[in-house]
Amino acid sequence: MSIAIKNEKKVYSVSGNEVLGSLPLMSQEEVDDKINQASEAQESWSATEVYKRADILHEWADRLVEKQDQIGEVISKEVGKNLASAIKEVVRTADLIRYTAEEGCRIHGEMLKGDSSRGGSSSKMAMVEQEPLGVVLAISPFNYPVNLAASKIAPALISGNAVVFKPASQGALSGQLMIESLLETNLPSDIIQFISGKGSEIGDFLVTHPSIDMITFTGSTETGQAISQKAKMIPVVLELGGKDPAIVLEDADLDLAAEHIVSGAYSYSGQRCTAIKRVLVADTIANDLREKIKQKVEALSVGTPEDNATVTPLINNDAADFVQHLIDDALNMGAELITGNRREDNLVYPTLLDHVNSDMDVAWEEPFGPVLPIIRINEEEEFVSLSNESEYGLQASIFTKDVQKAREIATKLDVGSVQMNAKTERGPDHFPFIGAKKSGLGSQGIRRSIESMTRDKLFILNL
Ligand code: NAD
Repeated sequence: MSIAIKNEKKVYSVSGNEVLGSLPLMSQEEVDDKINQASEAQESWSATEVYKRADILHEWADRLVEKQDQIGEVISKEVGKNLASAIKEVVRTADLIRYTAEEGCRIHGEMLKGDSSRGGSSSKMAMVEQEPLGVVLAISPFNYPVNLAASKIAPALISGNAVVFKPASQGALSGQLMIESLLETNLPSDIIQFISGKGSEIGDFLVTHPSIDMITFTGSTETGQAISQKAKMIPVVLELGGKDPAIVLEDADLDLAAEHIVSGAYSYSGQRCTAIKRVLVADTIANDLREKIKQKVEALSVGTPEDNATVTPLINNDAADFVQHLIDDALNMGAELITGNRREDNLVYPTLLDHVNSDMDVAWEEPFGPVLPIIRINEEEEFVSLSNESEYGLQASIFTKDVQKAREIATKLDVGSVQMNAKTERGPDHFPFIGAKKSGLGSQGIRRSIESMTRDKLFILNL
């Protein structure tokens, strides 16, 4: 059934108000139609040999590399990311897709014998296979519109699922280009369905649709929680917000720490789930560290994505308003402004605050923008207690020369991953990626994602 598109929404560039294109605002009937098409096509896709599915993914990766400049340019304008990073995102995505294709070919199932449990017998044997779940709903955020979408679509496809893909409105044109590349391969076109529309109209409809068999979501904690509460009894994997601390101990290499903290906190204007969002530093070295961070922050390039600046306008004015609120609240409550606190529309200059304490919103809230609070620590236990007091638990960094000490602290931190002497960040893409507490549910990373989109099916032989 084909239904005419009722209306469209224009997509503007983040920094220039340039009209980049438009997106269909789909109705519930259109979404229903697309989900049903995916569902009907899935059976024959799951019966397709894995090597053929892998060939299609490899071809997709090739197409993305060929179009890296074109797609990179759209990402750059649509989500306000500098062009070099946007192109890098496309190339990284091609690598992710290739690795996923290869990993999918290594999912062999297993054979279990029944005589290892008491009273069992070797005449009972189980063939354990991994079956696809059916139709996977992939919902992605604005900030990595190609990479994060592909990190859901590729594992779903290699394991024999159909995909209904709903990108964030800002980022959807980049997502659409990526899907066009996929459809240039031999993939049966109904297996991937692109959805766009008003969240208020189609969000709940999508999430509660009876033909959706699994949801993989990346975005804010608020939306993720709402989705998991509404979803029926189906698997849900959530990658949500963060408040990653950089813990800097007295013996740390401060040049190294400052370099990683600045790049971790301010790249892409802090619009990364794993951005460093607070510094917890031993009071004895805080002045030295602060000076080094300040120098590097003041050297950051600020401007437009076209200028290839590191700090570019935020995704919209609301996002900039929120960052400004965090800065104002902290300053009103006695924090010290080290640098920044300047704003032009949705461009917020990189801002560094010292003497931040637990009463200030910026100590706890995820800014998703270029503001970094320094919190001075006097008692060693506070590194762990303050880290863990956050409702988030994505990643943490520890800067020290003492591996033993770092490991000791790491085991006490309630987060998915701890980086020693490096900034918090996602990747390489085959590493498991986990959010504890309100930072997520389930595990991603190429192999884990494939596992989350399949279920074991046993054929038990009784000889
Ligand atoms: P968002 O929650 O506003 O939107 C994410 C997606 O959910 C979008 O596609 C949006 O259209 C969709 N959505 C919104 N309401 C919905 C509903 N009711 N039903 C179904 N879908 C709905 O997030 P955002 O602003 O695009 O991204 C920023 C957030 O994402 C930050 O909190 C960031 O930390 C988080 N994030 C997390 C990770 C991670 O891996 N943990 C990675 C990137 C971003």
